[in-house]
Amino acid sequence: MRISRIYLPTLREVPAEAEVISHKLMLRAGMIRKVASGIYTWLPLGLRVLRKVERIVREEMNAAGAQEVHLPMVQPAELWEESGRWEKYGPELLRLKDRRDREFCLGPTHEEVITDLVKGEIKSYRDLPLCLYQIQMKFRDEIRPRFGVMRAREFEMKDAYSFDADDPSAERTYHDMYEAYKRIFKRCGLNFQPVEAQTGQIGGAFSHEFMVIADTGEDTIAVCDKCGYAANVELAESRPEDPVGGDEDDKALEKVHTPGTHTVEQVSSFLKISPKRVAKTLIFDTPNGPKAAMVRGDRELNEEKLTACLDVAWAHLAEPMRIEQYTGGPMGFSGPVGINLPVYLDSELDGARNLVVGANEGDHHYINATPGVDFQVKQVADLRLVGEGDPCPRCATAMRVTKGIEVGHIFKLGTQYSEAMGALFLDKEGKEKPLVMGCYGIGTGRTAAAAIEQNNDENGIVWKPQIAPFHVYLMPINVNDEDSMAAADKLEKELEEKGLEVLMDDRDERAGVKFKDADLLGIPLRIVIGSKNLKQGKVEIKGRTEEKPRLADLEKAAALAREFIDAST
Ligand code: ATP
Ligand code: MG
Repeated sequence: MRISRIYLPTLREVPAEAEVISHKLMLRAGMIRKVASGIYTWLPLGLRVLRKVERIVREEMNAAGAQEVHLPMVQPAELWEESGRWEKYGPELLRLKDRRDREFCLGPTHEEVITDLVKGEIKSYRDLPLCLYQIQMKFRDEIRPRFGVMRAREFEMKDAYSFDADDPSAERTYHDMYEAYKRIFKRCGLNFQPVEAQTGQIGGAFSHEFMVIADTGEDTIAVCDKCGYAANVELAESRPEDPVGGDEDDKALEKVHTPGTHTVEQVSSFLKISPKRVAKTLIFDTPNGPKAAMVRGDRELNEEKLTACLDVAWAHLAEPMRIEQYTGGPMGFSGPVGINLPVYLDSELDGARNLVVGANEGDHHYINATPGVDFQVKQVADLRLVGEGDPCPRCATAMRVTKGIEVGHIFKLGTQYSEAMGALFLDKEGKEKPLVMGCYGIGTGRTAAAAIEQNNDENGIVWKPQIAPFHVYLMPINVNDEDSMAAADKLEKELEEKGLEVLMDDRDERAGVKFKDADLLGIPLRIVIGSKNLKQGKVEIKGRTEEKPRLADLEKAAALAREFIDAST
């Protein structure tokens, strides 16, 4: 392919709208263009990358026994009413009406449509297991679209849905998908980590996310390098330390004057005690009214865990005015003693004694407060946020906390959709049962962006050959030199015969401009044909991340290129 024939508008300037490197580079390299907030066009170069990701995904899905279908993007409201999600999904679901005033939505995911598809068609256990997938656009009216195609509103996803007769079979399918996902992201050349994850809007029994490790990732994950435990911090656990004061006798509760001590640090240094002795009490507003939650003074509370424990849609830290209203005291001095709210206690404080807690009164704390003695506990639960170095819940080794980009997410759904929508089959005993489902998503566009986020330098993108838009950047320096052009044409053919995709820079531009673009586009191998070298039968070859080019015989260039690409794949 010649650059002069491909629509490839590159940018010198860094676009102001872009925050993260992949977004900047995708715009600069002419891969994507914005149409509206979170809505993008893929240009030829970008689309080549997307197609390569899709191809890897397709091959692995097919190899895992899944079959490709294509479901509609516009979905009737009735299906969503059947599943109960028309009410539940919230403002991310873009709802619309047709000319007859019938309600529809743009599919953010396809559980309803697929369940409706198989319902009535799958009649017997003999038709199972079945796994169907598609690669298609989704629409989610994200509250803050950003990072280009990484968090878009319209984006491409591979979504697969499995149907099994029972749990063991469904778990085998889940495991097969898990393995297929590992192969997919490996083949895409990504450094990734599968982690245990929350199920969110999709629901279900358990799930894993596949995270591409990158500092700019929106997710935080905890990883134990010793035993392999890995989880999104939304639900990551840590082994609790022994409860503070657990082996002491209960001392008498006492209110003390602690002037100006709004934070744990201030209280602990004023009272000359360890921050671990202090228990923080946080007041939350929830749809079911205000609640109090307690964690040790040196810990952070994990709002996701609290939300899950309370089984509510949201829990927000209460405003200072509300805290005053609920507890009678100012923010920073809340405590569980005599409070008129249900108290949720982090499991690390279970069995703790003689704690320091707020007194619900300005500049005052209680010392020697003991759960169950000096205040009532509604529920003990794991409410701590896991941090760097916290002990692994399985083997107690210090864990690592890093950032990741979620590129894939798999769910064991169980029967929630099949039951709600009446997708039943007859088992071996002739008994009617709901299908056991799983669903499995990969953001193909996000995967392409994540690859850039992980592999780039100050000059541009660094593609791994597997998903690079082209393998070789072939650059005759002087396009007006007939010999150079003849050599370039011949070499292009030889490269293509070896199965390599070539982008020939046939523009009549300064060499400096072409070199810059070659780096920006990040094509793994660059071959430069200069008239002087050519007279000796030589060309310059350079890998994208290599410091300096080397001279090679023109005759051997294609073979060397093939070797290089194979070695870096
Ligand atoms: P996130 O937590 O990032 O919002 P999600 O949990 O809502 O993602 P899933 O419903 O699991 O996402 O969707 C499956 C995959 O689709 C994700 O792993 C991700 O790769 C991709 N994806 C989800 N939302 C977007 C988006 N707004 N833009 C691009 N890709 C997305
Ligand atoms: Mg997810």
